[in-house]
Amino acid sequence: MNQEKIQKLVSNLLIEIGENPKREGLLSTPKRVAKAYEFLTSGYSKDIEEVLNNAIFQEKYDEMVLVKDIDFYSMCEHHMLPFYGKVHVAYIPNGKIVGLSKIPRIVDVFARRLQVQERMTQQIADTIEKYLQPKGVAVVSEARHMCMMMRGVEKQNSSATSSAVHGLFKEDARTRNEFFNLIKMRGV
Ligand SMILES: [Zn+2]
Repeated sequence: MNQEKIQKLVSNLLIEIGENPKREGLLSTPKRVAKAYEFLTSGYSKDIEEVLNNAIFQEKYDEMVLVKDIDFYSMCEHHMLPFYGKVHVAYIPNGKIVGLSKIPRIVDVFARRLQVQERMTQQIADTIEKYLQPKGVAVVSEARHMCMMMRGVEKQNSSATSSAVHGLFKEDARTRNEFFNLIKMRGV
């Protein structure tokens, strides 16, 4: 990411919206925005294998593993405005487990880029599927979209939910219900 180029773009954006990038409060804004974008889109440059970094272990455990209420912050690709909320991730191991702390990090890899909520949810599930080959994986995300809340429709309290379920979570209603009971969806 070329910080200087982005600063220039932000400066031009400020002019186009009717601002004066030379006024005191805005002097460092292009620099700050460029820095912020570097962080908010850092998922593009993250390598999943590096993130997992040997944290996959052989293990006989075959009960549901659930990490719920993982906070995430992303940006919608349609408006480049934030959407944020919680992700719940569950899988049923089939000989392999991953260090629990890695799951929020997987979420961040896909959240910190321009996204649509449905794809982010799917990508998290696909990653668990690919690296652990579990008996099942389920991912649910609940999010509020600034592009809905701040502009146009201004639906202040609407939240969107999307889910990706594979394997046992798809085939077996009891497993799926157990998962949805455990996360007790209640909005963000
Ligand atoms: Zn949007």
